[in-house]
Amino acid sequence: MKTLSKETSLPGAQAIEIISDRINNGEISKIISLGAHPDDQLFWAGSLRHLVDSTKKSSSLIGITDLTLSKGENGESLSTNHSPEELADARTMENYLGFSAIFDGVHDKVSIDFNQMDVPDGAISRYEDETVNEIINNEGITSDSVILTFNEVGGDNHPDHIATNRIARELAKHYGAALLEFGLPDNTDSTVKLSSQNMNVSRGFVASHRSQFGDEGSKLQDPHNLLVDYNSLTLWQ
Ligand SMILES: [Zn+2]
Repeated sequence: MKTLSKETSLPGAQAIEIISDRINNGEISKIISLGAHPDDQLFWAGSLRHLVDSTKKSSSLIGITDLTLSKGENGESLSTNHSPEELADARTMENYLGFSAIFDGVHDKVSIDFNQMDVPDGAISRYEDETVNEIINNEGITSDSVILTFNEVGGDNHPDHIATNRIARELAKHYGAALLEFGLPDNTDSTVKLSSQNMNVSRGFVASHRSQFGDEGSKLQDPHNLLVDYNSLTLWQ
C-alpha cells in the first residue's frame, strides 16, 4: 500500500491537465467516477467530459467506469408516492441515462461501464471497510487508474459523501492510483472553469435526475447552479 501525497502547489485546473497528459502518454488508461448517490456526479460531470475531450484519440484511455455506492433509496424525491425500492430503481435508471449522456459522441474505443452498488443510503460510513473490500474483490481498478470523487468535506458536507472520500483514499492507496477530489469552488486559483458546451453536459446530467430536480434541471437554483459551472479540485498521487 502506498502513501498518498498531495500536490500542494497545484492550481486545480492544472490537475486536470496533468491527468490528461498522463492519459495521452500512456500512464493512465482508466477513469473511475466514484459517487455515493446516483446524482452525485453532478459535482464533476462537466469536468469529466472536459478531461475526456482533452485526451487524444490515440491515447491509452480504454475505459470509464461509473461506480455509485448507494441507490439513493432513502433520499428525498419530488414525488411523495413511492416505496424506497421504487425510488432506488428510478434513481438508478436516471443515473444510467445521465452517465451515458455525458459521453455522447465520445469515440467507441473507450468502453463506458456502469456499476451500481447497493450500500445502504444514509449509512455508508458504517460500511466503509466492507465497501472497500467489495470493490477490491470485484472491480478492475488498477495502478493506471484515476479515481474522481468528492474532497474530504464531501463537497457539501453530506456524511455519505465524506465517507465516500475516505473509501476513495483507501482505494487509491491500495492500488497506487491517482485521486482527483472535487469540492465547491473556494477561490479562482483552484477552480476548473468549464466551457459552455461542458456546462451543458453537466446540466444534462442534472436534468436526467428528474426524481430529484424535476423537469427544470437546467434551471437549478443555488447551490446546484454552482456545481455545474466550476469546481475546486485537489490531485493526490
Ligand atoms: Zn449525494
